[in-house]
Amino acid sequence: MAAAPHGGLVEIRGVHKSFGELEVLRGIDLRITPGSVTVILGPSGSGKSTLLRTINHLEPVTRGLISVDGDVIGYRRDGDLLHELHEREVLRQRTAIGMVFQGFNLFAHMTALGNITEAPRRALGVPRREAEARARELLDLVGLSDKEQVYPRQLSGGQQQRVAIARALALEPKVLLFDEPTSALDPELVEEVLAVIRSLARAGTTLVIVTHEIPFARDVADTVVFMDHGRIIEQGPPAEVLDAPRHERTRSFLATVR
Ligand code: ADP
Ligand code: MG
Repeated sequence: MAAAPHGGLVEIRGVHKSFGELEVLRGIDLRITPGSVTVILGPSGSGKSTLLRTINHLEPVTRGLISVDGDVIGYRRDGDLLHELHEREVLRQRTAIGMVFQGFNLFAHMTALGNITEAPRRALGVPRREAEARARELLDLVGLSDKEQVYPRQLSGGQQQRVAIARALALEPKVLLFDEPTSALDPELVEEVLAVIRSLARAGTTLVIVTHEIPFARDVADTVVFMDHGRIIEQGPPAEVLDAPRHERTRSFLATVR
């Protein structure tokens, strides 16, 4: 196995990703330290979702290296595959990385409780009673204790997204990735979801969040990353990137989302 770099919980080094002729990630270097909150900003099409998907093994990288807690995910050099993982190993690693999508993606035919217990039972073999006890704690954490027997269609978008967060937490991920978790919500439902994410941030969960909610980013982020055309244009604390951006592209982007 290739030597994993040290320091970050997630290490991203020189990552390139192409879809055919289209180079979507063009040399990404990023370190996610344990317990940190990283907010990724950038215009539509800049590669934010693709970056999250490479961290979660949903997309193989074309070149570069990603490691999560020492497990190397991708490592290729100029098309030569240097390290390829077995499917079983990919599945094992993926359970260490939680992901919450814009569109909730709950299982429609399962209750809230069923959605949360499914992966621990199937992927980790956790006994039903144990999985349910943990799921109840997680429903409490996201403020939905009274909804355990309810199906997704009976829940508001904000409630569905909170179940999706509980579901992601059920695998006790080392890092939780959010891809525009509030973009599909009616405005009045955004805050209840942001409040849950904020509480995870305060509890020291390692989070990587793609969002356009700038006040939220200023509040929770340790590091704000601005991406454009597959590159990181600047990164730093919110007080720098959001309030005193050094690059014109960052300034003009912020002007469009404020
Ligand atoms: P963002 O999340 O910043 O809006 P994406 O990572 O979704 O950006 O997309 C970046 C670029 O990659 C876009 O041009 C998009 O069309 C392209 N892209 C994303 N996924 C695929 C795919 N599976 N096949 C081909 N092109 C893709
Ligand atoms: Mg996206």
